[in-house]
Amino acid sequence: MHIFSQDDASARAGAWLTVSLKAIANNYGLVARLGAGAECAAVVKADAYGLGAAQVAQALAERGAGTFFVAHLDEGIALRAVLPQARIFVLHGFMPGCEGSMAAHGLIPVLNSLDQVRSWKRFCEQAGQAFPAALQFDSGMSRFGLSIEDLAERALFNGLNLQLVMSHLACADMPDSSANEMQRQRFVTMAAAFPGVPRSLAASSGIFLGPDYHFELIRPGAALYGIAPSEGRRVLASVVSLDARIAQIRTIQAGDRVGYGLSWTAPKATRIATLGLGYADGFFRAQAGQASVWYGRTRLPVIGRVSMDSISVDMTEAPADLKAGDVLSVLGPQQDVDALARSAGTIGYEVLTALGSRFHRVYVPAG
Ligand SMILES: *Cc1c(COP(=O)(O)O)cnc(C)c1O
Repeated sequence: MHIFSQDDASARAGAWLTVSLKAIANNYGLVARLGAGAECAAVVKADAYGLGAAQVAQALAERGAGTFFVAHLDEGIALRAVLPQARIFVLHGFMPGCEGSMAAHGLIPVLNSLDQVRSWKRFCEQAGQAFPAALQFDSGMSRFGLSIEDLAERALFNGLNLQLVMSHLACADMPDSSANEMQRQRFVTMAAAFPGVPRSLAASSGIFLGPDYHFELIRPGAALYGIAPSEGRRVLASVVSLDARIAQIRTIQAGDRVGYGLSWTAPKATRIATLGLGYADGFFRAQAGQASVWYGRTRLPVIGRVSMDSISVDMTEAPADLKAGDVLSVLGPQQDVDALARSAGTIGYEVLTALGSRFHRVYVPAG
């Protein structure tokens, strides 16, 4: 019955995402050198921005990363199974009553409120063990963390086994913003209440603000995944490419219309290709009339609306002999994640994390 099983996943795939663990590890090395003197942690929340936390974290650990950040407790539990030795911080701390899971998996909560501080202390007292924790300060973003007023209750923090104090910058991707220096100073003031505890302020963009922002630990996420730290800066390697096969090709006549809402009208006889990519794969409705895919160096405009599972492409500039099964490039040398994001009116973070899980995936090993 082998006629039923001659194909494999790569033959069946309509599109495949290639994730270069090598490029991620190299970006880690580059960022770590920029932050020399500080420990370089790695942020692998949201499944390493959609790229596969298990694979990515393993490659980074092999490259020397010893400290990782995730957002949720469950992400930490999953990561612990992959990295038995790593130091893992959970940015959102824990939901009430979940202190035990945190400790059982050797995870370090980032305590963001006085309530969390009290709960963690109570839990440690009951367990008879000062499990490690981190404190986050709100230095101006009003998102997570303790306020200056909260720190006035100094005695409350006695007895905590603090591994890190941290805060987060609101405007680090705008190097000229005066908010950066304002937040930095506030952070220094707040951290001074905890002498000797390592400090961390900078995520990817903050690292590029310079050594004043590095303190004892830096926390890059996006930079590891090749996203530019601020508009126009292009120092890190792209880590993903996305290739899609033509699912169908057809020629339509002048006046024929394409896609939902029949929003695109052919000005002349036009060859169009249908690709099996849509909302579930990081293509957004807002990209109608904006996005492109590529054949080599030839730009091919996406026409009409984006569907749930497909887009249509104007093949006028492509070689006439392209056919179903042939491959077009969506993310690659001609178009990186930031460029595709611009065509959707958004940023690389959003496109990367929206790429979804249904592509066939290929990992290029780190070393
Ligand atoms: C997501 C996050 C990071 C990493 O941010 P990037 O901009 O992706 O480098 C660092 N610190 C905190 C608190 C975060 O939430």
